[in-house]
Amino acid sequence: MRWTAALLAVLLLLAPALAAGAAEIVLPDGRTVTVEVASIDGAGWVCLDKLAKALGGTAGRDPLSRYPVWTVGKHRVLFSTATAMTSVDGKLLNTGKAAREKDGCIWIPESFLEVGLPMVLDGPVKVRSGAPSPPPTPAPPESSHPAPPVAPLPKEEAGIAVDATVAADRVRIGLCGTGASQAQVRKEGEVLVITLPLGRVGGGDRDLGSGIARRLEVAGEGRNLRVLLGAGFREYSTSSQKSPDCVAIVLEGAGQVVPSDVGAAPPGAGAAATAARPAKVQGQFVVAIDPGHGGTDTGALAPGGVAEKDLALALAKRVAAALEKAGVRAVLTREGDTFIPLTQRTALANYNRADVLLSLHLNASPATSAKGAETFFMSKEATDLWSRQLAEKENAAGDGGGGTDTLSLVLWNLAQTQSIVESSALAEAIQGRLNGLLGTKERGIRQAPFVVLEGAEMPAVLVEVAFLSNPGEAKQLEDPAFQEQVAAALAASIADFRTRNDAPPPPAP
Ligand SMILES: [Zn+2]
Repeated sequence: MRWTAALLAVLLLLAPALAAGAAEIVLPDGRTVTVEVASIDGAGWVCLDKLAKALGGTAGRDPLSRYPVWTVGKHRVLFSTATAMTSVDGKLLNTGKAAREKDGCIWIPESFLEVGLPMVLDGPVKVRSGAPSPPPTPAPPESSHPAPPVAPLPKEEAGIAVDATVAADRVRIGLCGTGASQAQVRKEGEVLVITLPLGRVGGGDRDLGSGIARRLEVAGEGRNLRVLLGAGFREYSTSSQKSPDCVAIVLEGAGQVVPSDVGAAPPGAGAAATAARPAKVQGQFVVAIDPGHGGTDTGALAPGGVAEKDLALALAKRVAAALEKAGVRAVLTREGDTFIPLTQRTALANYNRADVLLSLHLNASPATSAKGAETFFMSKEATDLWSRQLAEKENAAGDGGGGTDTLSLVLWNLAQTQSIVESSALAEAIQGRLNGLLGTKERGIRQAPFVVLEGAEMPAVLVEVAFLSNPGEAKQLEDPAFQEQVAAALAASIADFRTRNDAPPPPAP
């Protein structure tokens, strides 16, 4: 509330003149419109309602994800509150920041005016921002940044940023910040010790909940990072670079298959990359359901011994049945207890021209109290720590140096970008329904570069339905009635997604 008052005060002071709090927009028809621009956290924001009032159209909510939507003429703009990408008629724009809600307003990044309005208004748009924002906090001169050895960390900085992503059969740990590239990594028994000679790690310990790496611990006042390895750990590799100052440590599990293995897929799947695929049946909506793990890869184990791979398959079959009942074609990436390399799962979804890829998993954490669902979607932001820098490195060095891992991340970024907003919207819908079912509030949708979703051509989400390591949830998960409820929730989310995207109705039987 105080914030509103402050903002109002600022706007009242600045509104009359085209100063810090406004942007002047010259429309394609030559008219000029002025909109208020609020400064929040040092960036410019525009209230969507006010923008719609000034330029026409209707601001509302996406029924599936509850994301802000602006409909203008024949155009539909979907602002994600989860990613910095905005979709205009399905085309993606990078607006630099995700939309946000505050005090009854949906704030969209000011940058949308320049990148988005020409598409929405069907013509060239000139945007003149007000005078530079009021005295910014003095920024350090750009040139005075000699890499300081063991420099005291600025108060605001978290030190070296740690980014850990856990995939079914690999764990990536990324460190970026002063001295990160000089990290030394060595294995000491069941622990991978990362030593940072210059900077310090920001943040604290965290559970990884993977059979490859169980936990990350910060030691030595932030100068050491200890990765507690799991029984599934096989090997690790590192790649680093100086500018930006980053190191990536990839831990691989016993079931690891390199992405280039796509060619050796089971019938159908492997041909995805090269061979002709079956034509898309007009009006048919296809969902690829991917039960996590399988075969020798058991995934997580419940206290009672039930394996993630079996529960994931049971759930997948129920989801498939629910979808088929609703007239949706469901394709499973595995129907039995078989091991299928991750990349072949994606290839199978691509091959079948799936409209959605839904990967099903059960979570695990050493903290047995951890509970609830988590839904992941692929996001450019999540991989930024990795891919942007790795891409720059590849472009500079020519040979990449990071192997297939590096390459697949970069490729993913190109392939998946087009589905980010749709993927996050579907993730929101699924998470909303599962939260209701599991009675959890504290978990939500998350962004991560999972290998299984890399290279998917369609909106793709990975759902960790509940925690197998939580005795209560494990018991629930084994209950067929509960499985049926989960399946119904997932199928309903997908049905909503389908209707919302105005898929033509299935052909009459
Ligand atoms: Zn899993």
